[in-house]
Amino acid sequence: MKAYNPHEIEPRLQLAWDEAGLYTVPENSDAPKKYVLEMFPYPSGDMHMGHASNYTYGDVVARYAKMNGFDVLHPMGWDAFGLPAENAAIKHHSHPAIWTYENIETQKNSFSRMGFSYDWDRKVVACDPEYYRWGQWIFLKFWERGLVERRNSPVNWCPSCGTVLANEQVIEGRCWRCDSEVEKRDLTQWYYKITDYAQELLDDLDQLEGWPERVKQQQANWIGRSEGANVDFILCDAEGNAPAEPTEDDIITVFTTRADTLFGCSFFLLAPESKLVPQLVAGTEYEKPVMDLVEAAKKVTAVERAQGDREKHGAFTGRYVVNPINGEKVPVWVGDYIVADYGTGAVMAVPCGDQRDFEFARKYDLPIIPII
Ligand SMILES: [Zn+2]
Repeated sequence: MKAYNPHEIEPRLQLAWDEAGLYTVPENSDAPKKYVLEMFPYPSGDMHMGHASNYTYGDVVARYAKMNGFDVLHPMGWDAFGLPAENAAIKHHSHPAIWTYENIETQKNSFSRMGFSYDWDRKVVACDPEYYRWGQWIFLKFWERGLVERRNSPVNWCPSCGTVLANEQVIEGRCWRCDSEVEKRDLTQWYYKITDYAQELLDDLDQLEGWPERVKQQQANWIGRSEGANVDFILCDAEGNAPAEPTEDDIITVFTTRADTLFGCSFFLLAPESKLVPQLVAGTEYEKPVMDLVEAAKKVTAVERAQGDREKHGAFTGRYVVNPINGEKVPVWVGDYIVADYGTGAVMAVPCGDQRDFEFARKYDLPIIPII
């Protein structure tokens, strides 16, 4: 029996497939069509076994469909624009363009050696101007329709990498890449007004067939509810007296999806990142404990802080606001489970309707007003 010699057999067959254009997809044919797309790799080095396993699954799906008579569009490309590529280039003392295209060539050869069924005529490289011009084009369309805006807002900043990190890239307050302590920094950011589409997204979740109910519920929570109201709370003194003609500085606006729970609001919460916090406590006896809490909160990611099962920490600012629905004064606290990325960074706490507010109220002995 002849031994299987991959070095002899595979390159020969792969060359034959290539010359026959076996994986080239025709644009117009009567065959049913299938689009199989895997995540594009970062060209930050050669492939590793994780790639080999990941892309084998996609190739199995594509080949199975092809053998069942489908015309399968199965392209490959590289997520080659921006931070991971640039950081890898810096680390290897190379120019990002040289480093990136060299790695793309290396990885492409590795893909070919693995015999994956890609249509290389449809290769996508995210750092090619021919590709990213379409990203720019779409951005301009969003801009023309008022769907992007620029705002200052707190972000995770790694001083060592000199870059912004996503919440998922901060692990226990440290950079996933270099392990430096991550800071919060106010930076100008572009925001997409995805809230304009929240209702549409929610409505269309019903069209997803065969999705587990749990996953659909997660998606619904992720999208959030689009309907709600802005409610103005006015800062007052310890006796509950608010200025007769409040200025902008006296008003804190809160977005709520449940204005009907205003009666149950027994305290008021600000996120540690809220710009109001230092202003409210400056020069008072509350400044030290509040600012200590703010510093401690910076070391934890927003995702972790907002998690329900984490212990909540808070500090009283010494200030009060008037509940607009009944004129009652309610104390203003800073709570580390509030995240400023969402809305104004200020929320009314309704302990009888919200589990986290309830736990916070119990811990700090704050009133809990029952509502139906
Ligand atoms: Zn870093």
